[in-house]
Amino acid sequence: MQNRQASIDAKWTIIKLLKWATSYFNTHDIERPRAEAEILLSHALKLQRIDLYLRYDQPLYDEDLKRFKGLVKRRIKREPVAYIVGVKEFWSMDFAVTKDVLIPRPETEFLVEAALDLLLVGSSSDSILMPKRILELGTGSGAVILALASMRPGHRFFATDRMWAAARTARKNAVRHGLENNVALICADWFSPFVPKQCAFDMILSNPPYVPSRLIGGLQPEIAGYEPASALDGGEDGLSCLNHIIGHAHLYLRSKGALLLEIGDDQKNDVERIADGCGAYEHIACIKDYSGYDRVVQMRKK
Ligand code: GLN
Repeated sequence: MQNRQASIDAKWTIIKLLKWATSYFNTHDIERPRAEAEILLSHALKLQRIDLYLRYDQPLYDEDLKRFKGLVKRRIKREPVAYIVGVKEFWSMDFAVTKDVLIPRPETEFLVEAALDLLLVGSSSDSILMPKRILELGTGSGAVILALASMRPGHRFFATDRMWAAARTARKNAVRHGLENNVALICADWFSPFVPKQCAFDMILSNPPYVPSRLIGGLQPEIAGYEPASALDGGEDGLSCLNHIIGHAHLYLRSKGALLLEIGDDQKNDVERIADGCGAYEHIACIKDYSGYDRVVQMRKK
């Protein structure tokens, strides 16, 4: 066996490598080059990011150097950092992500926030103290339902995803956060495990695919080339899943139950028109995210 000591490359210290990777990323138009170099190097060395600075003049083993260069190569080919390191932070929680699930976006935290707001309000008969039944459709990594479950442990949570690999990742994340007994994760299409008008939910929420098919190829290469089209593609006009959910959710909601949907920033009018046209909902409203974009449409079943 080779002596590990013998394979140190004294030419490369942590700080030199960070500088090199940052400038390499810069020349390849990678956004946040320094931060991404740090994330990848700490992953390659199995260190916390802060440790890079505590050990900045530490020389590197050849094998670590090789591993890091492999990660840099993947990033240059535009693979998202979250897929390379296999984890993404959302709602201050770490979620495992694979190429089978959409990487949770910061703006989707707004969907969680809107849901939390609704779980706080209500009359005493409708109070937070009564366990509520909450269903997420198309859960992917499980980030949304698990963030909610972590904040409101008294309620009953359910989530579906028709992709087996996604449901498995969501399950892994539930275990990671000790929430596997709070959230029922089901590999199934939209509402299919539930009986209409019998499984009354207090809240249904979803971040469904909503990008028009023709626009997917023109998204950032990180998205177009790596993220699952099945989690992005909302059909010809981007509205097909939103349409389906709005058209069926009222069959699974109790009276006054809430439906919350993440939407694309130019879909407010279309989605409000669909919800209104359905005739089953009232109090239809759109909430903007912190960047000022229309992001969540919410409504109540009549
Ligand atoms: N917001 C996502 C994007 O960045 C789209 C997510 C979705 O279709 N639900 O493309």
